[in-house]
Amino acid sequence: MTHPMPSSAPVSSDAVNALNESERKRIEAKSALFAPPTPVTEDGRRELVGLSREELAEVLTEIGEKPFRAKQLWHWIYHQGVTDFSRMSTIARPLQAKLEKHFIVGRPSLTTQQTSKDDTRKFLFRFRDGQEAETVYIPDRREDRGAVCISSQVGCTLSCTFCHTGTQKLVRNLGAAEIVGQFMAARDSYGEWPSPKGDTPRLLSTIVLMGMGEPLYNYENVAKAMKIIMDGEGIALSRRRITLSTSGVVPMMDRCGDELGINLAISLHAVRNDLRDQLVPLNRKYPIEELMAACHRYPAASNSRRITFEYIMIRDVNDSDAEARELVRLIRGLPAKVNLIPFNPWPGSDFRPSTRERLASFAQIVMDAGYAAPIRMPRGKDILAACGQLKTQSERKRQAESRRNEA
Ligand code: SAH
Ligand code: SF4
Repeated sequence: MTHPMPSSAPVSSDAVNALNESERKRIEAKSALFAPPTPVTEDGRRELVGLSREELAEVLTEIGEKPFRAKQLWHWIYHQGVTDFSRMSTIARPLQAKLEKHFIVGRPSLTTQQTSKDDTRKFLFRFRDGQEAETVYIPDRREDRGAVCISSQVGCTLSCTFCHTGTQKLVRNLGAAEIVGQFMAARDSYGEWPSPKGDTPRLLSTIVLMGMGEPLYNYENVAKAMKIIMDGEGIALSRRRITLSTSGVVPMMDRCGDELGINLAISLHAVRNDLRDQLVPLNRKYPIEELMAACHRYPAASNSRRITFEYIMIRDVNDSDAEARELVRLIRGLPAKVNLIPFNPWPGSDFRPSTRERLASFAQIVMDAGYAAPIRMPRGKDILAACGQLKTQSERKRQAESRRNEA
């Protein structure tokens, strides 16, 4: 792969925009090849979860109902968490029956659920076509809140050498219904409906798009899902409570910042291009300089919202003091924090986590430079729920079906 532009040359912002625009088109075209199936049941009923407000109004018009019903349904689906039309008490019985005939308010089905010694809970969800993805709930250790770690794809096209998900080929993108559905099903599991108003405490209080897959390679579906989750009349999670993690899909970072304004996490893991090229092969396309420039352009960053830099600490690979100093140099001028994640081993990987001393010394250098640098001890390790350990058995095997999706 070649770098799209010599990274050392000064580049005008117009040139960056033009370049990004064509790259974005290429990424979006590729993403469409892995589109999810249309969310319809075998008996032809349309899934309502995952539709935008406008689409919801449209499908209601199609069955001869007034578009204003969309507001009412939205409330039942996303605020109350109700899946059964007959429990939607503000809707008259005949209309309930009609809705039931045409539509469904579904959830991904739960294949297995495991709870770790540390209370982390991992869900394996199966979607309508049988494909599976994992979702993890990570409770805060001190307070009654926690993060839901959501998958955006089944498998991943990228193959970062330290990541278990990266050994699973991309099967397909998850649809908006499946992305929102993971959060809603996790809420079902904790009985967290209706959506609390305002800042009422809740267990499932934040979302991190850090599960399986690269969310910026499935931007359309991820964006649609996040807009639904942020909608003030439904789940109403604020954009400040949502963090998207990317391995560095530079052209899509701009779109994400402009359209969603959610928090950004960058999977950095190396401070030199030669090493990052190996660990995160996408770096060969979007090298560190371009990645950092995109971070500076990220709008939330200019509002002092910190960008998180994730840095896996791999023994004798990327964990020297010199690298910590270089990391500090790279992030200077950005509102940033650094999450140091000791490498989580998985079957078949040769890497080892850094020693305690290395972790402490690295963290100290970053902290001395004025940045928070928490060491993220793995959660849910006993159930393979920790960062980079997620993987399912799903394979992209049904060629006929994938060709249909590609059409
Ligand atoms: N594809 C996106 C989103 C997945 S996030 C991304 O890479 O950012 C998953 C996070 O877990 C990433 O920061 C990833 O780098 C990290 N990770 C992957 N494998 C890991 C491992 N074995 N140990 C610790 N963290 C890992
Ligand atoms: Fe994909 Fe992220 Fe894993 Fe890399 S770290 S293989 S981008 S999921």
